[in-house]
Amino acid sequence: MAVLELFQLGGFRSVPRQAGETSGELPGFCYRPVPTLSSENSRYHKIHDEVYKWFDIKFDKFGRTSSPEQTEVCHAIFQKLMENNWLTENTMQQLYCDTCQRFLADRLVEGICPNKTCNAPARGDQCEICSTMLNPTELIEPKCKVCKNTPRIRDTDHLFLELPQLTDKLVNYISETSVTGLWSQNAIQATNAWLKEGLKPRCITRDLKWGVPVPHEKYKDKVFYVWFDAPIGYVSITAGYTPDWEKWWKNPDNVELFQFMGKDNVPFHTIMFPSTLLGTGEKWTMMKTISVTEYLNYEAGKFSKSKGIGVFGNDAKDTNIPPEVWRYYLLMNRPEASDTLFTWADLQAKLNTELLNNLGNFINRVLSFVAKPAGAGYGSVVPDASNAESHPLTTKLVEKTSKLVDLYLDAMEKVKLKQGLKCAMAISGEGNAYLQDSQFWKLYKEDPATCAIVMRTSVGLVYLLACLLEPFMPSFSNEV
Ligand SMILES: [Zn+2]
Ligand SMILES: [Zn+2]
Repeated sequence: MAVLELFQLGGFRSVPRQAGETSGELPGFCYRPVPTLSSENSRYHKIHDEVYKWFDIKFDKFGRTSSPEQTEVCHAIFQKLMENNWLTENTMQQLYCDTCQRFLADRLVEGICPNKTCNAPARGDQCEICSTMLNPTELIEPKCKVCKNTPRIRDTDHLFLELPQLTDKLVNYISETSVTGLWSQNAIQATNAWLKEGLKPRCITRDLKWGVPVPHEKYKDKVFYVWFDAPIGYVSITAGYTPDWEKWWKNPDNVELFQFMGKDNVPFHTIMFPSTLLGTGEKWTMMKTISVTEYLNYEAGKFSKSKGIGVFGNDAKDTNIPPEVWRYYLLMNRPEASDTLFTWADLQAKLNTELLNNLGNFINRVLSFVAKPAGAGYGSVVPDASNAESHPLTTKLVEKTSKLVDLYLDAMEKVKLKQGLKCAMAISGEGNAYLQDSQFWKLYKEDPATCAIVMRTSVGLVYLLACLLEPFMPSFSNEV
């Protein structure tokens, strides 16, 4: 089985925004390059690339959406939607700044939160204080962030994807795939919440200067809404990787698509993007499995990049804590079913009790004993052993380990990564108990044949652990 791993920079981040999110602060979306933004964009791309390398995260293609392929694929999909009559025109109201002579992106509108119990200063499409989702036209006393003048509401025509008419097709896809693809519970909940409200036509264009231009005479000065074209980035990035991209993307009988993301991005992947693909009437590879995480909170509060609260990718390497320890802690703490908490004390505790006292201790005891010179150990040669089945402790260990390996495989198949990691660590725990119960250091002189069974079995277990832990801590596995 071939696996293609893609990463799209900037496309799948923690806070979904509306119009105008294609700013310099969010890399990856500058399709019609503005020189300053473009260099900013490249700068972030490079930073992220380095962070992932440091964390031992590898991709076949670490892509971005500022590519000619993105425009090409996006336009082809758009044309299909037009041909199939899934797009309609409608008028929207948007804030326009007369001084700046442009429609204002959400993040460029500042005002007061309309929520009466809050009334805090707010910006763009969400109040950071009370979390209310906003339409910027609802902000009290709106101001243009650039020139501080009061913008006015102006009508503007846009294109809409007719989600209501696509609902039947979409519901078919969701009800079937959420079962066969073992969607995580939080993905199903978020999707159903949207469906329950009833789908409305979704605006797919924006009055912005940059983005993928809309190939339509009337709308040629507009660009596509970022959440319309960001998921198309998965396709275009594959197209930038191989001319055979359709073997991946138009081959649903032979390709399984897995996607991983935070819970706030779910509707774009279970509702919007599938509807877009279904609307083309073509045979696309649709997402099969979605693995969604809740939030990881920091000490007593929330991570906030803008407020500098938390520890981020580029800080991690400055801590001198090795990447495998970070990976272990973050995966063991992966918020699969509910929010989890990052604390430095917990990181230290897990490092000491789990990585050092359990895993490190087992591997070190086994390998250092084997490495001892003959007379005290085995001179770095794994001893031959026979009749292992005659040693009850060993047969018991084998039994327990096989069960744990089965559980591990099942968990990994279902993308329950944390459960998989726990199974591997439980095997290491069994290994420690086995060493302790067998009292191999006594057997070495008293019963060499049994000692050889114990050490040969233990070395096998070390090898097994290196394999099982490889997806979690590849550099550790390499070293072992
Ligand atoms: Zn508020
Ligand atoms: Zn202005």
